[in-house]
Amino acid sequence: MALFKLENVEDLYEIGEVLGSGHFGQVREVLERATGTRWAGKFLKLRKSASSRLGLERKNVEREVEILQSLQHCNIMALKDVFESRSEVVLIVELISGGELFDFIAAKESLTESEAIEFIEQILHGVEYMHSKRIAHFDLKPENIMLSDKLVPHPHIKIIDFGLAQHLTQGEEYRSLCGTPQYIAPEVINYEALSEGTDMWLSGISPFQGDTDEETLRNILAMNYEFDDYHFSQTTAMAKDFIQKLLVKDQNERMTAEESLLHPWIKPLNRKQAASRCRSSINMKNFKKFNARRKWKMSYNMVSACNRLCHLQLLCKASAKANEELRQCESDQEDTESKPASLLRRRLSSSS
Ligand code: ATP
Repeated sequence: MALFKLENVEDLYEIGEVLGSGHFGQVREVLERATGTRWAGKFLKLRKSASSRLGLERKNVEREVEILQSLQHCNIMALKDVFESRSEVVLIVELISGGELFDFIAAKESLTESEAIEFIEQILHGVEYMHSKRIAHFDLKPENIMLSDKLVPHPHIKIIDFGLAQHLTQGEEYRSLCGTPQYIAPEVINYEALSEGTDMWLSGISPFQGDTDEETLRNILAMNYEFDDYHFSQTTAMAKDFIQKLLVKDQNERMTAEESLLHPWIKPLNRKQAASRCRSSINMKNFKKFNARRKWKMSYNMVSACNRLCHLQLLCKASAKANEELRQCESDQEDTESKPASLLRRRLSSSS
């Protein structure tokens, strides 16, 4: 069982502005009083009783902490310390101030494939490292890929949010229905045993995106995608081959992180291959459109979760403290938004 410090986190850290929020709490900038160093504090609300719908079970927080403690890699967010009070656990982690990778890219005028590869390679190095320790992230999506500093010439990737990560054990099967529809792998929708391969079903701009979540999941199961000219006319054949080797329905046939790093699109075999990556560019108009839609969907999910809470009159109870309100809104999403696949799967099976 992970041991968390029982001291009051505020005695050691000054709590600053909110950097972001997730299903189970807020992430805030914190200042270490003894050294003046800036960190990020992830405040996770603990479930008060087994019957409560709000907050995280302690065992899930322990799992996230144990996994973070076992990962030390330059492309993975580092954990410094953990504090526990009666109602919450605070993870002190490295401060990642460059924002989300996708927002950084969307703000650019142009991006060549070789610039994109610099980022993809770093993500793959982080994923290869965690897979070498038999840890699967199970929630790799644009929101969880950040940059440590976006103002440097070659920004550094950091993978965050190990809330759904699992240590896979030989001989034990792990199944889950959690995930975000656009990025969910077929084996998750089908409730099959998952593996490290599930993380490799990684496609930034989901080619399966339907008008509704249900349509998106159907497209994934039917492997309904194509490299249409409108979106992929500027994409090299090597890039398409790379994507195709990841969008394989059978997780055992999908490229591993190790194999991906050796694919000629990432590691060109000759000068001709290297040169073609520099000439090809990413279709920025489509990328910006995708990113705007992704952001809109994220805000929509957050607002609708808060609306549901208002209906339950939980906000009234929590109105004493503004911060508490926000954290409870996010906690409530656990049983609804964080399991869209589960809900949709039930809907899919009942409608087919
Ligand atoms: P989710 O609901 O997606 O599972 P979560 O509750 O597990 O979220 P995180 O995804 O870890 O929380 O963090 C929520 C947000 O806080 C992130 O999307 C990001 O914007 C911000 N954030 C997280 N970690 C850091 C960090 N180390 N430095 C700066 N900002 C961070």
